[in-house]
Parts: sequence; structure tokens; C-alpha cells
Amino acid sequence: MTLRHLQGSGMTSQRTRDRMTKRLIEQGITDNRVLNVIQKTPRHIFVDEALASRAYEDTALPIGYNQTISQPYIVARMTELLLENKESLGKVLEIGTGCGYQTAILAQLVDEVYSVERILPLQKKAIAHTELLKLKNIRYSYNDGGWGWEDIAPFDGILVAAAPNEIPEALLQQLAIGGVMIIPVGEQGSEQFLHRVTRTENTFQIEALDSVIFVPFLAGKE
Ligand code: SAH
Repeated sequence: MTLRHLQGSGMTSQRTRDRMTKRLIEQGITDNRVLNVIQKTPRHIFVDEALASRAYEDTALPIGYNQTISQPYIVARMTELLLENKESLGKVLEIGTGCGYQTAILAQLVDEVYSVERILPLQKKAIAHTELLKLKNIRYSYNDGGWGWEDIAPFDGILVAAAPNEIPEALLQQLAIGGVMIIPVGEQGSEQFLHRVTRTENTFQIEALDSVIFVPFLAGKE
């Protein structure tokens, strides 16, 4: 991949990224840290060449294996919620690496990202994409994210990119005290809601926020 491809041109240019960022502001995203990182991260390198010209539309796009790259607004919203009222975040666990776009955004905003994916070829794509961007603070695991990442826990933040019917117990247990988890919850075909879980000394505070649509959180590895 050439530098020119990385920077983009025409429908993948910096101007197109600027316009996407402007739309995110109009949609209600306010955290400048998140907006700045989205503005400078080339989203087109995360999708197939044939879809590159659509990479800055506010839609989910196919990335193969029945999965989609999350919509820019959702990536921005989840990242903003994760960082809300925090100056910085140490260790963050991401479940559902996909093509690695959300991973790349997180890696530029927190100290360390630990990302779990259950479909190996997707994980390989994500590794290649984030290497192109020279991001060094990411570790990947090929596993069922329902188990979290025990060896690294506790996490200051957890971000889940697929919707389970219920919040997995292991993820709750691996959240640090004061830590925040952003996770879509709900059955496929029925209404799903983005949830924010905050762990305090002795309890979990759980809030249902926006109505969302996510691919299913599946058990086991493929
Ligand atoms: N943020 C990613 C989203 C990809 S879609 C992106 O923008 O590309 C959600 C991803 O979650 C899919 O890649 C899917 O394979 C993965 N996934 C679903 N259930 C999982 C589980 N139990 N463990 C790990 N990954 C899971």
C-alpha cells in the first residue's frame, strides 16, 4: 500500500473525512478527542478496495464473514461514552475486533487496547490494517470474547461490538472498580439497547441508553 492510498484522494480524501466529522458533530458527538482521532484516521483502508469510496458514508459496510464495520456514528458514540468524565484510560478490552477500525480509534485514545475476535481471518485483516497505521499499543486474541481476557483483567474500560442477549458474567467480573463497559444488549430481531455498566465498590450501575442494531454476539470460535 502506498502513502497516497493511505492518505486517500477524492472520495477517500482528508476533505471527505472532514465532512464526515462535521456530520458527527451535527448528530450530537461532542468529545473533541474522539472527533480529532476520527478525523485523522483513514477509514477506507479498513474496507475492501471496491467499497473504499463509500467508507465515509454513515453506514455499516460488509467486511466479509457475515460481519460489518460499525457505522462511524456508533463508533464515535461508544468511544465518547467510554471516555466520558475520564481524563485518560489505561487498559481497554474490546470484544469483536472485526476489521479493526474501532480498535484503531481506541488505540489513539487510551493506553493499551486488548481486542478479542472469534473469526480468525477478520483478526488477520485487523492486524494488517492497524500495522499500516503503525499503532503499537494493541494486543489481539483469537477467542470467544464471552470469556473476556482473564490474564490481563481488570480493565478500566470494556467496549463490545456485538449484541448478546444478556451481559456476559465474565465481562462484569473483569471490569475494574470505577471502570465502564459499553455494550449493546438484546435479541436479534427485537429492539437492542446500548448499555453503560459502571462498576462501583460494591455494585454495578447499569443504564440502558440508545436504541441500536448490532450483529449477534456468538459463542465459540469459527
Ligand atoms: N468494530 C468492528 C465491528 C465488527 S462486527 C468493526 O468496526 O469492524 C462485530 C464483530 O464481533 C464481528 O467481527 C464478530 O465476529 C465479532 N464477535 C461476535 N461475537 C463475538 C464473541 N463472542 N467474541 C469475539 N468476537 C465476537
